[in-house]
Amino acid sequence: MSKTILVTGGTRGIGKAVALKLAGTFPGSRLFLTHAGPRVEAVDGVLEEIRALGADAEASRWAVQDSAAGEAAIKDILDKTGRLDILVNNAGITRDGLSLRMTEEDFRAVLDVNLWGVFSLSRLAARHMLKERRGRIINVSSVVAFTGNPGQANYAASKAGIIGLTKTMALEFAPRGVTVNAVAPGFVETDMTGKLNDGLRERFLAKIPLGRFGSPADVARAVAFLASDEASYLTGVTIHVNGGLHLA
Ligand code: NAD
Repeated sequence: MSKTILVTGGTRGIGKAVALKLAGTFPGSRLFLTHAGPRVEAVDGVLEEIRALGADAEASRWAVQDSAAGEAAIKDILDKTGRLDILVNNAGITRDGLSLRMTEEDFRAVLDVNLWGVFSLSRLAARHMLKERRGRIINVSSVVAFTGNPGQANYAASKAGIIGLTKTMALEFAPRGVTVNAVAPGFVETDMTGKLNDGLRERFLAKIPLGRFGSPADVARAVAFLASDEASYLTGVTIHVNGGLHLA
């Protein structure tokens, strides 16, 4: 069945894979992708790939931490399609540094995008979903929410915050049939992780029980499951898409 779907940061990396997978899973859907960068050509390429799957897609550039922009984007989606079935809060940033050296600005910036952005957009989307008594919110957390990671106090705190937020909104929205779940990817090969040097990559690989890095498609499959009818009795859960890294 066709859906109206909003994927933040949906133009590259994990978000792009999620958008493509959802377009394939729900034929005839309308996808709204957001991004924060100026990479117009790459964005056009994603939209063409989605349209080739028989879905409609458009992209817009705004920052998820800007609630006024989020409100305008949701209004635009509702004006155009009259519905919003699935929100995937995927956009996220890192600004790594050891705790003693991390600046206040870097700490706050990561919390602003990764946690406030998810909270703000989720409740804006929920206003409509609760009225309709249906909807799926899927948040992209990270394995480091569960394990911690040296140099990522800001990022790990934001991603752990997403887990508490997911459980709380799951409880608040369950009476109206809206589910809120999370995925916790491990090391996924994207632009975000491409910046790491070879030594660090090898050290991460050695820790992953299943012995390989994840792909954006691995994460996208879990998100598509949570968005599907098969997952209608799941809320407040986290799917660990990290090769067992959360156990290591
Ligand atoms: P990426 O950097 O490749 O893509 C991020 C996307 O988010 C881009 O489209 C970017 O434009 C958008 N974005 C960034 N800041 C934004 C903002 N303020 N407002 C709106 N959009 C913004 O990242 P990725 O590796 O694909 O990661 C996607 C998500 O998965 C993130 O939340 C990340 O924390 C999480 N994650 C990634 C990994 C990994 O190994 N790559 C592991 C665990 C979790």
